[in-house]
Amino acid sequence: MKYRDLNIQTQREAPNNARTEGFAFLVRAGYLTRENLPTQLGERALDHLRNLSKDSSFLSHLSLPIISNDDEIFFPIVSGSLEVAHCPECKYTERLELARFAKKPLPQEEQRPLEKVLTPDCHTIEALANFLGVPKEKTAKALMHTRLADNKFVFVVVRGDMQLSEAKLKQHVGEVRAARTEEIERSGAAAGYASPIGLQNTTIVVDDLVPQSPNLVAGANEAGYHLRNTNYGRDYSAEIIADLVQAAAGDACTNCGNPLAVLSTLSLATRSMGDQPAASTYHFENILLALAEAHHDAKGLTLPHPAAPFDVYLMHVPGKEMDTRAKADEIYSSLQSVGVSVLFDDREERAGVKFNDADLIGCPLRITVGEKGLKEGMVELKPRKEKDNRLIGLAGLTSLTSQVEFWDLVREL
Ligand SMILES: [Zn+2]
Repeated sequence: MKYRDLNIQTQREAPNNARTEGFAFLVRAGYLTRENLPTQLGERALDHLRNLSKDSSFLSHLSLPIISNDDEIFFPIVSGSLEVAHCPECKYTERLELARFAKKPLPQEEQRPLEKVLTPDCHTIEALANFLGVPKEKTAKALMHTRLADNKFVFVVVRGDMQLSEAKLKQHVGEVRAARTEEIERSGAAAGYASPIGLQNTTIVVDDLVPQSPNLVAGANEAGYHLRNTNYGRDYSAEIIADLVQAAAGDACTNCGNPLAVLSTLSLATRSMGDQPAASTYHFENILLALAEAHHDAKGLTLPHPAAPFDVYLMHVPGKEMDTRAKADEIYSSLQSVGVSVLFDDREERAGVKFNDADLIGCPLRITVGEKGLKEGMVELKPRKEKDNRLIGLAGLTSLTSQVEFWDLVREL
């Protein structure tokens, strides 16, 4: 491809909406607009990734620090909107809302008798715990839903110090919505002062930590009152006991006990189970951003082979005596004829402008055709990640018979 055919527009400055260096360089190098839309060069890079993805192991060849489980591959990045729990020790990885963790039961104690207490204006767990002078983990939190499929009233209990994961709840009961006041009242519960004790026509679902937590404070199903010392099994039971709560950073990994980290990520691929073999859906825009984030330096992108859309950035420095452009054309044809992907910067621009653009765009190799070298039958070859140029014979480059021959030439330098 020729530089001008792609209408590449590089930028001197990073866009002011850039949240990561990777995004900033994709915009500056002309792969993306500031509005995060792929340009022609960006589309080219995405097509290249789509092509690579025919090999199902391609993501592992892009030198990306990915984390994964059987269903999904993630790339940690501060701007990522997808939260993932990850164990740095055993590599357990799961979307946060579905992550398991090792729960710590409270010390066992004698079950004490129920005791109804006046608790005015205690509409939240915080207010209740403060008012009664008990820790939040000694309270039961009530969450009331209605199942969409059959309008069944679903009463969920988790410990007061935990957060319900709607995603986990959905796995056990199906889709739900928040219950309406009349649905709550019909069951016998009182909003703000609810407990599962004595309810009618209700599916009770409790987090598996609740049966191990004795003497919890719960609602009395009467406005203004709570009950001390509610106990699962003695005072109520549930249709479903399951893990229903959301993990948080620092919770213990279920596999190895080490603290879990919570990472912001992008999803790079999701594997749909049920297909044989499991087929992956790739999120190519995210993969491009991940590549830019993982592979850049102060001057621009440093995309590795095979991730880069072009392996070679070919340029000529306009000469005074010699037609450097014609020689660059010869190299361009030769590289293309053996299938090396080339971006040919054939603009009549100063060398400095072209070097800057080459650094921004980040092809693994730059080949520069200049007068000084040509006089000795040589052109300059510079790997993007290295500081120095090497000289390579023009004759070898213009008479290639295979792609392997080209890579051998590069390696020998
Ligand atoms: Zn672990």
